[in-house]
Amino acid sequence: MPTIAIVGRPNVGKSTIFNRIAGDRISIVEDTPGVTRDRIYTHGEWLGTTFSLIDTGGIDVGDEPFLKQITQQAEVAIDEADVIVFVVSVREGVTDADEKVAQILYKANKPVVLAVNKADNPEIRQEIYDFYSLGFGDPYPISGSHGLGLGDLLDAVIKAFPDKDGEAEDDSIRFSLIGRPNVGKSSLVNALLGEDRVIVSDIAGTTRDAIDTKFVDETGAEFTMVDTAGIRKRGKVYENTERYSVMRAMKAIDNSDVVLFVLNAEEGIREQDKRVAGYAHEAGRGIIIVVNKWDALKKNNQTLHDFEIHVREEFQYLAYAPMIFVSAKTHQRLGELPALIKTVATNHEKRVQSATLNDVIMDAIAMNPTPNVNGKRLRVYYATQVAVQPPTFVVFVNDPDLMHFSYERYLENQIREHFDFTGTPIHIIERRRK
Ligand code: GDP
Ligand code: GDP
Repeated sequence: MPTIAIVGRPNVGKSTIFNRIAGDRISIVEDTPGVTRDRIYTHGEWLGTTFSLIDTGGIDVGDEPFLKQITQQAEVAIDEADVIVFVVSVREGVTDADEKVAQILYKANKPVVLAVNKADNPEIRQEIYDFYSLGFGDPYPISGSHGLGLGDLLDAVIKAFPDKDGEAEDDSIRFSLIGRPNVGKSSLVNALLGEDRVIVSDIAGTTRDAIDTKFVDETGAEFTMVDTAGIRKRGKVYENTERYSVMRAMKAIDNSDVVLFVLNAEEGIREQDKRVAGYAHEAGRGIIIVVNKWDALKKNNQTLHDFEIHVREEFQYLAYAPMIFVSAKTHQRLGELPALIKTVATNHEKRVQSATLNDVIMDAIAMNPTPNVNGKRLRVYYATQVAVQPPTFVVFVNDPDLMHFSYERYLENQIREHFDFTGTPIHIIERRRK
């Protein structure tokens, strides 16, 4: 999925434009309280092309002086984006800060589309010609708050997306390691890529820093570790900020089939862990909970059990995710990881036969009758699997409103008891039978 980054000095309207293009995707992740600028990473779609979108204005590094902040935001755009939307404001004309941003963007080897915002009416649109002086070709007049001109802008952006035709599709298992700084992601990468594994290649992605690493395990199964370079490096100031690392994690999740959600056994669970885990769950990815630094704990025969209970309580919606307790330092249980990733990837794209599925559903209903709401009983006629990654089932019923959440969960549990869907969320959709 190509990435667009919105960049520009403060108050030109970046977050207004971001929210316009984003549309409305409400989620448990984005509802998390205490996030000032509510979100900086999302998806958008224009005429059938989907993309991810970053509001670099939301990456602020605290007390840095103004010019340093906008420099860093422009650098994030250069690092992360396939196409950069450089926003200026027709109300103020070309300012020194705009020129500063332009200078940084000249050095980027990335397409830049210039958006002149706050062009709310036709008269003011005459004034966009001054912006040719910034040197990014045609300025696109838009109004973020009125939603004007965004179509033409997005047409230009999509035209500038890199050509993907030449890239060979492969069917290796794509996975990423996600977790807070210091949980041991880089150490796990190094341990997983250790001597006994053949590294096939580093694949340069469409963006400079997104480097995927391919390897083959003992059984010949091929894996692609997504954004390995992003895990390994840590230098620039913004790379240490929480919002940047959350954004980076969301991007990696979007590009993976299976997510290894890494926790630090020594430190337990934090709010940031919950945000990324919630995002991976909602994105419908396969998930494995990896508890790292298991060597660092003093243990008795209860420790593992207690730790598991604690994690299960904190992440109830991840009940389907297997947990593995490892050490990047001693390599404890690391050998089991590739096979586990493979199992989860297989379950994530598993298809079950309609006949067997319907036997399971009908038996489930016989054992535990459907709910009765105000004298009306839910009737279930037929179920069928309509998609994989994640497995998605449509259940045809007399009235979808009669399907209670708890009964849907009962059906999900029955499906899970009969088919192995370890590690993958499954989606159930009710449809009224015509
Ligand atoms: P950011 O700092 O670049 O993210 O800018 P914001 O999106 O927070 O917008 C800064 C201010 O400009 C807010 O008061 C917005 O309401 C206003 N604004 C944003 N877009 C437009 C626009 O198209 N026209 C006008 N007149 N005001 C806008
Ligand atoms: P990242 O920020 O998630 O990539 O974490 P790193 O891989 O950089 O590891 C952070 C620190 O934890 C480093 O000092 C590592 O040596 C240490 N560390 C990583 N894995 C383990 C482990 O399994 N056991 C112990 N005891 N320390 C570890």
